[in-house]
Amino acid sequence: MREIQMVDLKAQYEKLRTEIDAAIKSVLTSTAFIKGPEVKFFEEELQKYLNAGHVISCANGTDALQIAMMALGLNPGDEVITTNFTFVSTVEVVALLGLKLVLVDPDPCNYNISIEGIRKAISPRTKAIVPVHLFGQCADMESIMTLAKKHGLFVIEDAAQATGTDYFFSDGTSKKAGTIGDIGTTSFFPSKNLACYGDGGAMFTNDDLLAKKLKSIANHGQKVKYHHDYIGVNSRLDTIQAAILSVKLKHLSQFNSARRSVADFYDKAFAGCSPVILPERVSYSSHIFHQYTIRVKDGKRDALKSFLESKGIPTIIYYPGPLHFQEAYRFLGYREDDFPVTTALCKEVLSLPMHPDMEQDQLDYIVLNVLRFFKKQ
Ligand SMILES: *Cc1c(COP(=O)(O)O)cnc(C)c1O
Repeated sequence: MREIQMVDLKAQYEKLRTEIDAAIKSVLTSTAFIKGPEVKFFEEELQKYLNAGHVISCANGTDALQIAMMALGLNPGDEVITTNFTFVSTVEVVALLGLKLVLVDPDPCNYNISIEGIRKAISPRTKAIVPVHLFGQCADMESIMTLAKKHGLFVIEDAAQATGTDYFFSDGTSKKAGTIGDIGTTSFFPSKNLACYGDGGAMFTNDDLLAKKLKSIANHGQKVKYHHDYIGVNSRLDTIQAAILSVKLKHLSQFNSARRSVADFYDKAFAGCSPVILPERVSYSSHIFHQYTIRVKDGKRDALKSFLESKGIPTIIYYPGPLHFQEAYRFLGYREDDFPVTTALCKEVLSLPMHPDMEQDQLDYIVLNVLRFFKKQ
């Protein structure tokens, strides 16, 4: 059996080697390392795939969030509502820009920001909501957009874990994650569903003026070289990474459906195992399983993790500590017990190996050992 990995970057590279090597070589030969034609080509391909108005690439997913907030003209003191159960990027950027962070608990079953929580958190100073489409499944965007419209708020979707996820509206139409709010952002970090071989990110918008502003801010605030209209940043996607991403994008749908098959297998295998709570699949979103994250009841999560580790099965805890517990964010002044759902999830969640190249013998072995652990208890 091949060694089990959380994400098998080697297996994926081996599969696409000829195409990837040719793409990289062509950039090396052209030496157009910054803003080469491959960058524009990739942006156009991704724009078509997502059916987005505009795609603007940048250096990483954290920058994408920062540039989005800068482009929307958020000012120090403006309140931004986001989930407490996510990667640190959103809260980091909000803090860096001097905005006021307002955290909200997630839904305990699908892990995405609670709509009731958002409703309670909205104040006269609220300017934006940042839903994160966690683990590959969309937050309840229809409810979020309704709330945003009612209160005149911007919506920035963090789609770093959901490139390719479909959101289904109640009228039967659908849109890709990240193309519903004012701006969507994503990351091409090597472990993401659509990933490059280093750092990369992008922003999506359907607003022509906003697109120009995002593009300009990402490039030192200039539209014309050496003319600076905005205070900007230096955040570009390297040409080599863009060339790699265009190759990978062609396979994204197939890779995402391979992940779904792995999830289907896990779901079936653990269905009768009562200490394991399966990740909920909501009706309004497809799921591309960036992570397959179970909850382990009865305080057995850490023991299961160690047991699997001893059998050569890696697992990861996304996320081990609520953001409001982190040293850097103590200044927000939250009390330890302000977010009971996040705190409980941090003690129960466990993400199992999940990637498009998992083999049946690996899946059988993982399932066998999870079930064996609970039989012994
Ligand atoms: C990965 C990730 C980011 C940050 O992306 P980087 O490219 O690493 O900066 C932001 N938000 C979420 C939810 C992520 O998973």
